[in-house]
Amino acid sequence: MTVSLLCIDCGRAYKPERRWQCECGGLLEVSAPDIRISRRDLDSRLADRTFPFSSGVWRYRELIHPLIADDQIISREEGNTAIYSHRKIAEYAGVDDIRMKHEGQNPTGSFKDRGMTVGVSEAVRLGCTAVGCASTGNTSASLASYAARAGLKALVFIPSGEIAYGKLSQSLAYGARTIQIKGNFDDSMALIMQACEKNDVYLLNSINPWRIEGQKAIAFELLQQLGWQSPDWIALPAGNLGNTSAMGKAIAEMKSLNLIEKIPRIASVQASGASPFYRMWKNGSSVLSAAEHPDTIATAIKIGNPVSWKRAMNVIKGCNGVVEEVTDQEIMDAKAVIDASGIGCEPASAASLAGVRKLRASGVIKRDERVVCILTGNMLKDPTATVNYHTNKLEGIRPAFANPPVAAGADLEGIMRLL
Ligand SMILES: *Cc1c(COP(=O)(O)O)cnc(C)c1O
Ligand SMILES: [Zn+2]
Repeated sequence: MTVSLLCIDCGRAYKPERRWQCECGGLLEVSAPDIRISRRDLDSRLADRTFPFSSGVWRYRELIHPLIADDQIISREEGNTAIYSHRKIAEYAGVDDIRMKHEGQNPTGSFKDRGMTVGVSEAVRLGCTAVGCASTGNTSASLASYAARAGLKALVFIPSGEIAYGKLSQSLAYGARTIQIKGNFDDSMALIMQACEKNDVYLLNSINPWRIEGQKAIAFELLQQLGWQSPDWIALPAGNLGNTSAMGKAIAEMKSLNLIEKIPRIASVQASGASPFYRMWKNGSSVLSAAEHPDTIATAIKIGNPVSWKRAMNVIKGCNGVVEEVTDQEIMDAKAVIDASGIGCEPASAASLAGVRKLRASGVIKRDERVVCILTGNMLKDPTATVNYHTNKLEGIRPAFANPPVAAGADLEGIMRLL
């Protein structure tokens, strides 16, 4: 079996060694061209409740990390996330068949666990003793948990004051060395890359090609849940663009293995305050120019200089996809609709639904097309944003679906008048 790391810029191939970038600076991609697997092989594993096929990532292990041995896998039975639909969401989007795959149901509350189980397992396979990342919150929460499970040291750089409390608390609680950088995510990213190089720490941002391999499992699991029948669209929020890259790679692999017949179109949705990828796509530019001061309430996608823009652009072109942007107002109203349908998600996740609604309004998505939104993170990650929305405390946002708490004295009659 040949497994190599291929540079997407210069084409150079490396053995699967401890490396996360090409010498030319280009991004690396895992290539395992001899793998063969059928729907029947994969479907037969669904009844298996034992390790490692009980994991919604390692169920697809040949397509994710063919070299890893059982005793190197650090898994928390990630994945196996539910797909929901609700009349309110369909009405809001203007699409009849729209479903939400809830990646917030992963062990640490976001899809990052799918990439992290693979990244940390790879660190174990390589014999590393420490792992690190820069993060807007969810990557660090996930890294801290999986590193603790593996007995590895964890180093986390986060932008000071810009992390939702649910996420910061996880990084601290799971025992990561947490450094709050006076700067934004892009500053933290540039610094962690140098710190990892200098201190022999294995870098586990989504620049690491094994993270992307793990995140492909969102697509494998989704398509298997749909009986291998592709939807017309898959919509997802876009920040650093690792997820867009992983989704596209997974779809291309499933197509070439004949696991699926049709290529779904990807709609990659950015927050308008942090939308360099949208602008690149809209202007037909061949290079991304970073956004200097990214700003959005959706902190998970508050990124001005996404590392994976090149592979993500290849993905969008390869699947006839689109890139869209949505305002914080649109994000928070879409979130309120998802929340009030009993599902719930963190702000960034709702960019997917907000994007679909906008693309439906402009006629790009048709009413009778089948759409799946990826809800990337759990509602409890950022309770501050939710409470401030419902109590009308978000600057520049007028909550269309506010459900504020009502104050009452401790007497039953007074309370009865309020009901
Ligand atoms: C990381 C993250 C994103 C952005 O994913 P990218 O791969 O960086 O584009 C979106 N939503 C949530 C909740 C995240 O944690
Ligand atoms: Zn190269």
